[in-house]
Amino acid sequence: MPGMGRTKLLHGAWIVTMDPDLKVYNDGAIFILDDRIKALGPSSDIFPSFSKEADETLDLSGHWIIPGLINTHVHTSQQLARGIADDVDLLTWLHERIWPFESNMTTEDSFLSTLLCGIELIHSGVTCFAEAGGQHVDAMAHAVEKLGIRACLARSTMDTGEGLPASWASESTDSCVKIQEELFKKYHGSACGRVHVWFGLRQILNATDDLLLRTKELANKYKTGIHMHVAEIPYENKYVSEQRHVEHGTVTYLSKIGLLGSNLLAAHSVWVNPNEVDLMAKSSVKVSHCPASNLRMLGFAPIQEMLSAGVCVSIGTDGAPSNNRMSIVDEMYLASLIHKGKVVFTKGTTDPSALPAECILKMATVGGAKAVLQEHQIGSLEVGKKADLVVINPNTWTMMPIHDPIASLVYSMRTENVDSVMCDGQWIMREKRILTVNEDEIMKLAVEAANGILKRANICIPRRMNVL
Ligand SMILES: [Zn+2]
Repeated sequence: MPGMGRTKLLHGAWIVTMDPDLKVYNDGAIFILDDRIKALGPSSDIFPSFSKEADETLDLSGHWIIPGLINTHVHTSQQLARGIADDVDLLTWLHERIWPFESNMTTEDSFLSTLLCGIELIHSGVTCFAEAGGQHVDAMAHAVEKLGIRACLARSTMDTGEGLPASWASESTDSCVKIQEELFKKYHGSACGRVHVWFGLRQILNATDDLLLRTKELANKYKTGIHMHVAEIPYENKYVSEQRHVEHGTVTYLSKIGLLGSNLLAAHSVWVNPNEVDLMAKSSVKVSHCPASNLRMLGFAPIQEMLSAGVCVSIGTDGAPSNNRMSIVDEMYLASLIHKGKVVFTKGTTDPSALPAECILKMATVGGAKAVLQEHQIGSLEVGKKADLVVINPNTWTMMPIHDPIASLVYSMRTENVDSVMCDGQWIMREKRILTVNEDEIMKLAVEAANGILKRANICIPRRMNVL
C-alpha cells in the first residue's frame, strides 16, 4: 500500500481536460499518485478501479475541475507597490514610482511581496507563473517553495539606459551575466523541481548588444527561457530603429541579431507590425498578452493576427501597480472582450466571435504551458502529467444559471468561484483557504513593509479629492 496521503481520488466532477482532443467529462474522476495524474476518465470507470488504493477520496459533485491556470507575466516584487502609480504616464510610472520603489526593497521585502502576490495568484486558480524579473531571486525562490506553487523566476537585468536608480546604474554586463548564471545553478530545479530559473532582460532600452547576445547564448546552453518586455510603446520602436538602424522596431532588431527563438517569452508585444508577427511565428517566440496593463498604458496588441499566424499566445496579469488586479480570471474575461471590441476599430465592423471562450481557455492553460517551456508536464489534465488542477464551485449567483459551461468559465466565472487549488499533487488551497502560508499574518507584515519602502524611497502619492 502507498504511504500516507500519496494517493487522491477526485470524482463526480465536470472535468475540462484541455487535452489535444479537448475532452470534457460530464461525471469524471481523476486518480493522483504523488505529484502526477495516474488515471483520468468517467467516474464509473475510475472510481471502482482506484477507490481501494486512495488515501483521500473526494466527492466533487456539482463542482468543476480545470487544469491549473498559468500566468505568464508577473512582477512579484511589485506586489507591495499596488496603488502607487495609478493614472500616470509610463515614464512617471517607471522613473518616479516603480524603479525608486523596487530599488529600495530589501530581500525580506521581496520575500513578503512574493508571498502576498502568490496568495492572490493561488486564489485565482494559478498553479504556475513566470516572473518578469525582480532584484531578489533568492527571496522569490524561498517564497515560491513555501507557497507550494510553480514558477519560472528571472532577475531584472539592465546594463545600460537612462533614468535608472543609482544602485542599478552601475551594473556591468559581466556582472549581469555572472549573477544570473549563479542563480541558475543555485535555484533551478529547487522546491522539488517547481522552481525554474530563467534569464531576464528588462527591455531593449536597458540592454547592450553584448548583454542580449550573451543572454541568448546562456539560455540556450542551460536549455532555459528568456523573459523580456518587447515592443511596449512606439517610442521604444523609434529609438531602436534610429539607434540600431533597422527599418522597424524591437522585434525586427531582435530577429536581425538572432535573439528570436522558442525560448523567448516576449511580454506585451503590443507595437509589432505584420512582418514582425510573421518573424515571431517563424521563430516560435511565445507571447505573454497582458490585457489590463496594455489597456492602461501601452495599447492594443494584435493578438488575433498573432494567433492566425500561429504564434503561441498566453496570458499575464503583469504586476500589481499596472493592473491592479492579479487575477488571471479577470484577465481571461478582459482578453476576450478587448479583441471583440478591437475589431470595430481595425475592420470597421463587429465580430463577437473574435477570440471565443475556448480560445481564451487555451491561452491560459496549454498556451501558458508552452510559454513556460513545460507543455509536457502541465497545462492540461492528462495521464502522466503533473497534478496541477483547480476546483471551481459554480453554484453561486455569479455563475447561475449555466447553459454553456465553457463560455461560463470565461465570461461569468469570478475569482471567488475558485474553491480549491492543487499543485504538484498537493492541495495548496482548500475551500478558499490557503494551506501553505498564514494569509492574515502575511497581509499585516506586507502593509508594514510597503509603508517602509515608500518612506525610504521618498515616494509621495498625491492626494486626490479633498481628503480630510
Ligand atoms: Zn512587466
